[in-house]
Amino acid sequence: MNDPSKYTTGEVDALLHQGIDKADIGYIVIDKDTRVLVWNKWMEHASGRLQGDALNRPLAEIFPEIRDSRLEDAISNALERGMAGLLSAKLHRAPPLTLRRGDGGIARLTNPVIILRPLSGIETDRHGCLIQIIDETNSATREKTLRAQAITLRAQEEQLRTLFEAINDTVLLLDENGHIVALNDTACLRLSGTKPDILGRSFFDLLPTPNALTYRRYFNAVIDSRTPQRFEDTLGDGTYLVSMYPVPNGQGRIQRIAVLASDITERKLFEKRIFHLAHHDALTGLPNRAYLLDRIEHAINVAGRTRRRVGLVFLDLDHFKAVNDTMGHDSGDALLKTVANKLTSVVRASDTVARMGGDEFVILLEPAGQDQDIARMMERIIAALDLRWGTGADTVRVTTSIGVSVFPDNGNDARLLMKAADTAMYAAKSEGRNRFQFFSEEMTIRTLKRLHLERELREAVPNDEFIVHYQPKICFESNLICGAEALVRWRHPERGLLAPSEFIPLAEDTGIIVEIGEWVLERVCKQIAEWLKVGRAPLSIAVNVSPRQLFSNNFVDFVTKCLERYQVPLKFLQIEITENAIMSDLAKATLILLKLRHLGISIAIDDFGTGYSSLSYLSRLPIDVIKIDRSFVAGLADRNENLEIINAIVSLGRSLKMIVVAEGIETIKDVNVLTEACCHLGQGYLFAKPMAVADLEKWLDAKGYLGDCWGCKKRIDGDLLDDQGLKKLCR
Ligand code: C2E
Ligand code: MG
Ligand code: MG
Repeated sequence: MNDPSKYTTGEVDALLHQGIDKADIGYIVIDKDTRVLVWNKWMEHASGRLQGDALNRPLAEIFPEIRDSRLEDAISNALERGMAGLLSAKLHRAPPLTLRRGDGGIARLTNPVIILRPLSGIETDRHGCLIQIIDETNSATREKTLRAQAITLRAQEEQLRTLFEAINDTVLLLDENGHIVALNDTACLRLSGTKPDILGRSFFDLLPTPNALTYRRYFNAVIDSRTPQRFEDTLGDGTYLVSMYPVPNGQGRIQRIAVLASDITERKLFEKRIFHLAHHDALTGLPNRAYLLDRIEHAINVAGRTRRRVGLVFLDLDHFKAVNDTMGHDSGDALLKTVANKLTSVVRASDTVARMGGDEFVILLEPAGQDQDIARMMERIIAALDLRWGTGADTVRVTTSIGVSVFPDNGNDARLLMKAADTAMYAAKSEGRNRFQFFSEEMTIRTLKRLHLERELREAVPNDEFIVHYQPKICFESNLICGAEALVRWRHPERGLLAPSEFIPLAEDTGIIVEIGEWVLERVCKQIAEWLKVGRAPLSIAVNVSPRQLFSNNFVDFVTKCLERYQVPLKFLQIEITENAIMSDLAKATLILLKLRHLGISIAIDDFGTGYSSLSYLSRLPIDVIKIDRSFVAGLADRNENLEIINAIVSLGRSLKMIVVAEGIETIKDVNVLTEACCHLGQGYLFAKPMAVADLEKWLDAKGYLGDCWGCKKRIDGDLLDDQGLKKLCR
């Protein structure tokens, strides 16, 4: 009976074959004719020839170079003489063993060791040979490579460790529960502990609570999303840019989280400084326009959600330019700083005061109360900014004009609110300054009308819609008509003849006045030339010049060219400039007037007495004529209140060797008062209204008292205009 616990020969055979297949060397068994009987898996692998393809093949077919080789000798020794053998490439300088692969290709064992063991048949002479092949190359190089790899890895690890420690940034490696697995010295410093203390502890336990919550949130996000996360963190005075990276293990599981925190405190401070510079005004330190716009948008967003009101206040100093011009820019700068301080102290902490440039300030009221609350605050600002600036005789009163717009009433974005407040501010200015004005719909309508008028005005010069009227001037001393003032009118296609008051201010604001003024000058020169051509007695014409025109780049050039083109002698042209125009930029005006005087053109100062400045500058200016403003002449005969002023102006003019002209003479009584005051010339409806050329010519022909008396600077010694002569000159 077979013992069931014992393996059968077949079972042992199977195990043996498995063992041979699993061996890490090649096993070949051949019969006495060198045909292959056993071919293990190692051989299959090394040669690429499967067992089925090797069995029963003569060995020389598989190892082509076996013929006549030491191996063939060794095999025949084993088979025929029962001799074991060992062949090694190293010992016998055998060539590499070449195997013919199953697919026809060649496999090569470069450094084989071959051991041959003769096998004897059991009770037969069917002997054979066992050939064991060990590929030394493979095992040796593998070992060598592994050793080299280990060295490289160690070197790399060393480099990384040095880098890890050398980095100024905080670097930590956390496990999936947030415990610290590794950290560098910077991290130790930041967490205020030593490595042995810190390693293994929960990172989040080492941070202050609010920071720990942030870190924990991003830590979870890294694990959930498996993507890196970045955030900024502040700790003490420092700001850090923190990056968290997932570190997967070989199988793609996230086992570690790398935490990198760079100290960006300095960069943040620098950015803050740059931000401040870019968003604040250098002189006053207040937020600038760009920053304000941001603040307004933000305030509107918040107010929209909370249903509150936001106020926008536009402030513009009245006559700031006068301070700058008369007291110098340093004084102007100091005034702006004072204004900035005063504004900041009047408003609430939640409000923003900004400087838009020049003397323009804006306050963002956030939130704004009801209109009456805003009004009360504006009154406080008006009072706080009613200043006496300068010392002694140079003191100037500085006031402020304010426009207010409110969200949501006047607009729902920054642009609309700014526009509304600006419009309201201009309304406050034209109402007489030193006041505040809420924006209203009528202002919009007025603005739209203005825009329409502006468009028409731009077309008026090209469309030849202007005309010049002339108003004569009478010499009280000689009874002569000794000149005329050119006054422009607009023949509006729909509204008829428009007086300058209807369009000159707009033309001045928009700059169109330069074009109109040039047209008038040219028209007047042309007219004088025509009169001269037809042999009319010469008449000196005074042309009004606006500040914009006077200060335009080529004014003096333009006048010169005009006179040349029409061959007009200089004495026939006079320039009238208002006192306010001169005072708006005294230095520049003086320069231009000197150039005109140098050319030989006479200059009149118009609307004299309405300016806000002292008279001391007058003696320094090249002025030939003073024109007393109409407001002092009006009703002169009935009321004596302006007589003092008239007397003062006339004696000032006379003492400075200037001709004094009175405007707006409407009655003979006015003439009497003015001649008594020794005024030289008069102009007014009493003599003639401004007239078109044809009417003027007729008028001149009828009166016949025409003459050049510009040189007439004699004192009038009680020689009043005789009644007859005067009556003849009146209308
Ligand atoms: P202005 O230069 O002071 O001119 C005198 C103004 O007083 C003229 O008004 C004239 O018609 C008016 N006037 C003269 N006599 C009397 C009078 O007895 N009674 C009354 N009530 N008014 C009298 P106008 O023509 O309406 O011109 C107004 C202003 O427009 C001028 O004041 C001048 O400043 C400006 N203007 C007129 N033409 C031009 C021009 O071509 N260029 C510039 N830049 N401004 C001009
Ligand atoms: Mg004038
Ligand atoms: Mg005038």
